[in-house]
Amino acid sequence: MMDICRNSLTHNYDIHISVDEWKDILCLSEIQNDNNMLSALEKWYLAPNYIASCKSLGKQYGLDFRFFSVQNMRLGKIAVNHIKRFRLIGENGKETYWPVAWIELAKENGAYIMQLRPELVEAIRSLNLFETDVDAVINKHLQNPDMKHETFDFSYEKHEKPTLSVRNLKDFSRSVEAAQNALRHAEWKCEFNASHETFPRRIDGFPYLETHHLIPLKYANKFNVSIDVPENIVCLCSTCHNRIHYGQNNKEMIKFLWSLRKKDLHIAGIDIDLSELLRFYLI
Ligand SMILES: [Zn+2]
Ligand SMILES: [Zn+2]
Repeated sequence: MMDICRNSLTHNYDIHISVDEWKDILCLSEIQNDNNMLSALEKWYLAPNYIASCKSLGKQYGLDFRFFSVQNMRLGKIAVNHIKRFRLIGENGKETYWPVAWIELAKENGAYIMQLRPELVEAIRSLNLFETDVDAVINKHLQNPDMKHETFDFSYEKHEKPTLSVRNLKDFSRSVEAAQNALRHAEWKCEFNASHETFPRRIDGFPYLETHHLIPLKYANKFNVSIDVPENIVCLCSTCHNRIHYGQNNKEMIKFLWSLRKKDLHIAGIDIDLSELLRFYLI
């Protein structure tokens, strides 16, 4: 185990954690199941150029500034214990953890201005860790030439739900397969209104459609089986997909799609009433 002290030239700690190592660390269940740690990290990640101070973020989000330092220390400690390559020694000679995720840029008005390390930022980005619309990621993956175009019937197969709160971070292949099957099931038509016009996909000339998880994946923990199944995936034209996420009157749409899928979801072991589903969409 190597002891690393502050570099007197750069005023920072040269820790050399690679992007892949950060990816492994971020996928650890003790981080994935820790909403406080993820929430603090996400807020830092969303700051311009990943630069902030605990004080500025505390003010922005109405939180105690110590929340950010505490969560950052915890993340640093987990990373050091996982990597087992070095210890960071602070100015007081004691082991410290704040420099693991952060680079100190300056001290202004008594507040330390910190930046997330670029390797950590890259790991967050490549894992889609804070992607709020998983559908967007899946739809990008759907644009591939290996798509089977024959028809598909729901199998009502119950899949074990993923153990991590952010599912399958490194691998979207199962989601993509479920989404492909949902497209085949919908026979390449918008399921809100089959007459909605679309356009041919560049990749194979089939109608361009997007897939959307009717019960959003972020609520996966509330169900006993996986909700990342074709029975829970509806196919929508671009306009309808954006409308269900961002439209003013999306309630009617959700109501319609819920009544369309209610029975199929039930057979697939997924029960949800309309009022709960609307709550998931914050309606
Ligand atoms: Zn969507
Ligand atoms: Zn449509």
